[in-house]
Amino acid sequence: MIPFLDLKSINTQYRDELVAAATRVIESGWYIQGNEVRAFEEEFADYCGSQHCIGVADGLDALTLTLRAWKEMGKLKEGDEVIVPANTYIASILAITENRLKPVLVEPDEASFNLCPEKTAAAITSNTKAIVAVHLYGQMAPMPALMGLAEKHGLLVLEDAAQAHGASIGGRKAGSWGHAAGFSFYPGKNLGALGDAGAVTTDDEELAKTIRALGNYGSHKKYENLYQGVNSRLDEIQAAMLRVKLRHLDKEIQNRRQVAEHYLAHIDNPSIQLPAIGALETHVWHLFVIRCQQREALQHHLADQGVQTLIHYPIPPHHQKAYACWQAEHYPITENIHQTVLSLPMGPCLTSETSGQVTEAVTRF
Ligand SMILES: *Cc1c(COP(=O)(O)O)cnc(C)c1O
Repeated sequence: MIPFLDLKSINTQYRDELVAAATRVIESGWYIQGNEVRAFEEEFADYCGSQHCIGVADGLDALTLTLRAWKEMGKLKEGDEVIVPANTYIASILAITENRLKPVLVEPDEASFNLCPEKTAAAITSNTKAIVAVHLYGQMAPMPALMGLAEKHGLLVLEDAAQAHGASIGGRKAGSWGHAAGFSFYPGKNLGALGDAGAVTTDDEELAKTIRALGNYGSHKKYENLYQGVNSRLDEIQAAMLRVKLRHLDKEIQNRRQVAEHYLAHIDNPSIQLPAIGALETHVWHLFVIRCQQREALQHHLADQGVQTLIHYPIPPHHQKAYACWQAEHYPITENIHQTVLSLPMGPCLTSETSGQVTEAVTRF
């Protein structure tokens, strides 16, 4: 079976470096908020081209704490509307509702799966205060246009960059476009830790300080608490793993692009819709998502041919039991996406032989 994502192969490539980094942490005697986290935060801020990076426990916390910090800073208040794509992964929306802000679901552009400026503009009301711009599947949302809209209407922009480490537009990377960005380093993400981890990037020093305090019991200074905070910190051991993985990220993105180029050039089947291609730099191929009206039959066919596939995502957020309040709402583009998408094997360790086998199996359907 060709696995959808072979995490073991990805991490064992760097076994010696990872073991050395883990050993360094074990022998340091310092496991929370030490040199590894500080160094990773600097290196990742530098990589993204932003001023500050704050390590947190996971990607959901990165988004949740950023919105919470804006509330503490008086920039958002309960009930404010936040625009978010209707077809995103549920975490983007959980971060909004956790803060008692109001998600306004907006249909994506069909070709890119991301927010488009026109539909976003149409959703803005006098209560709209922020946009969560998700770079879904690893492709950048149209940030120049979204930032233009935000400026015109005085909105905050939070990038959900959990799937897009290293993607860029005009040389400017994900994480440096919005007023802040949330990253996940969940093991299966393009920059993955060996456990849960996340970070926020921003150029706003006050925001950085507020998030740092909120994730540390609301404390900016030992035993003094400004906020009713939470415990959401990046561990030293995960920071050390991430420092190793970050050094190899650009090469891994190159490998993913090669796999994507192979699929795009060689999959030949009129019943399959391939992802639309923008500029090379804008997509880091976290997922390679095709569409097919007979998705179930295709998935079975590929399984029979020894190709594992996954669906991102089978149920749209507005049809989740968690959001029963939206059951009656209808987002036809989003619903059609959820009914037809299928993710092919994609990763930095896929050989050309393997991507060739996947290509043949899809073409034969
Ligand atoms: C993975 C992911 C998250 C959440 O990150 P975790 O680290 O798993 O909490 C948020 N948004 C998107 C788009 C994601 O893919």
